[in-house]
Amino acid sequence: MKIRAVRASGLRGATPEGGWSDELAPDDVVHTLVAVHTDAGVVGFGSVFTSEALVRAALDVLRPVLIGQNALEPERVSERLHGTTFWLGRGGSVTHTISGIDMALWDILGKATGQPVGRLLGGRYRDRVRPYASLLITPPEQLADTLRGLAGRDWTAFKIGWGSFGRVSDALDERVVAAAREAVGPDALLMVDAGASDGGWRNGYKWALRTAEMLGRYGVAWFEEPLRPDALDDFVALRRAAPVPIAGGEVLTRRQSFFPWIEAGAFDVVQPDVTKVGGLSEQRRIGWSAHDHGVRLIPHGWNTALGLASDLQLASALPDTDLVEYLAGSPYIDDITTERWTLDADGMLPIPDRPGLGVDLDPGRLARYCDPDELLSES
Ligand SMILES: [Mg+2]
Repeated sequence: MKIRAVRASGLRGATPEGGWSDELAPDDVVHTLVAVHTDAGVVGFGSVFTSEALVRAALDVLRPVLIGQNALEPERVSERLHGTTFWLGRGGSVTHTISGIDMALWDILGKATGQPVGRLLGGRYRDRVRPYASLLITPPEQLADTLRGLAGRDWTAFKIGWGSFGRVSDALDERVVAAAREAVGPDALLMVDAGASDGGWRNGYKWALRTAEMLGRYGVAWFEEPLRPDALDDFVALRRAAPVPIAGGEVLTRRQSFFPWIEAGAFDVVQPDVTKVGGLSEQRRIGWSAHDHGVRLIPHGWNTALGLASDLQLASALPDTDLVEYLAGSPYIDDITTERWTLDADGMLPIPDRPGLGVDLDPGRLARYCDPDELLSES
């Protein structure tokens, strides 16, 4: 089975706020879907955390290296793409775009062999996983109302982040966390994300340590991006000193960028994003390196239904990945597939055991956010 075409279409019209200093508008494209077509008629799908224009430009470069390759060899083909484009933006938009191709190739391999991708990644450790609802921080009363609503609908794990956190005052940060803990109850998992990769971030190590101590009083399960994303030494020091687990890594791409952080002991929880890092081939290798160093991989998942589907397959295939991020309320997660995501009574998401990534895009729903023909037509 040979790769015959690769197509892309950006999602627009309902792009959720990202919490960034320069906030997104609904028509800004930050997630672009990719389809890989084969000469056997099997089509695989992936998702890229990058604008449509950059994905299309990257595909122009990647296409000559990709077309005609064996469609059933995701790791080899992705490695070939990385190796032939290092001079064109290693780690940047080209790597992001390879992520979507890699996801699509795993999807194709699953569909062609009749197996869920998790089994092809090495085997299924679990057939369901706990999703955590991921929310931007709003004023404490409003945030508490939203969290209470989710907790009333079987959600048992929550992450609040960005917004005012670390940007207004220590007192407001503690009010937010106290209100969130009160809303979700003592037994729910509650995580806090400072979002220090934001361009407007102004705090340093002392703030992070002081805040970690406050979060410890509220039983917070991890403190995410408490420091600027390149502050490796401070992450290592904070992980040793903080009473709560330290999480990060969502802005890193390529497995090679993660290994120094994992080996230095920078993270308790490492959070690569499958739609940026290089796809499932990179995620799997980062996940096993993390496991061998006593670090959990919990994927960054602020992306699309195809990203979530990939995270579920990855969670099935890694022993320590017992949570996935779920961007609560985004149509790009909830409204582009034929079947809706549904929690079971324990607040868990079943991991599809159908062939491939285990989800089908719904062209009718997709048409609200992109042109499905741009993805589905072969030429
Ligand atoms: Mg984050």
